[in-house]
Amino acid sequence: MAALKKLIAGNWKMNMLATDGVALARAISAKANGASCDLLVCPPATILRSVAEALADTDVAVGGQDCHEAESGAFTGDVSAAMVGDAGASHVILGHSERRHGLDESDARVRAKTVAAHGVGLIAIVCIGETEAERDAGRTLDVLSAQLGGSLPDSGVSGTNTVVAYEPVWAIGTGRTPTLEEVEAAHTHIRTTLGAALGGEAAAIRLLYGGSMKPENAGPLLAVANVDGGLIGGASLDAESFLAIAAADAS
Ligand code: PEP
Repeated sequence: MAALKKLIAGNWKMNMLATDGVALARAISAKANGASCDLLVCPPATILRSVAEALADTDVAVGGQDCHEAESGAFTGDVSAAMVGDAGASHVILGHSERRHGLDESDARVRAKTVAAHGVGLIAIVCIGETEAERDAGRTLDVLSAQLGGSLPDSGVSGTNTVVAYEPVWAIGTGRTPTLEEVEAAHTHIRTTLGAALGGEAAAIRLLYGGSMKPENAGPLLAVANVDGGLIGGASLDAESFLAIAAADAS
């Protein structure tokens, strides 16, 4: 199978009011033409629609940062998958470590959210990754297997509705990254594990690396086997650095 087109996704987290978010989206889309990668920005839910409207008819897609697994109901403060889609998103990040570890989200919950996202036609970006203690204990690959097995639905997972993001928890927002060999080992393991569950379809699922990816280290990280793009936090809040990461893709 030919190499997958890379996806560079920005996770804006809890940053940006409408004016700044729309300006950032416009600054990215103004220079997105000719990028060799697909580009995606994931603003906070409050400005999803404004950013989606600003990016309509551009090459930059929009995603949510989370959704609830229920269709509707008494879940104060939450948004459903349909609401995320209704606001203009095509993608949704699920199981980010800041939710798994900060808000105790389990694999089962991430799986239920993934089912909900697929149910309304959203592409789920399912995040997995080991803590530093798990890496130090030599458990990285086991943790990734368990999170994949627990977080992905039993059926219907394909390259058109699912992206997997490998994000070592200890690398997020810290300026630290695994070695290229460690990234390759993790991504190869994820591809193999997906293959055991999904057969040939595993080759069509994009695997993103996330964790302190910056313009300075993006080239080598994006060149690692089985790395099909990046999920970018801090460096996605500036149009120039986000686009420089995309430009570092040599494929
Ligand atoms: C993230 O939050 O998904 C992330 C990778 O953050 P950062 O790039 O800031 O490490």
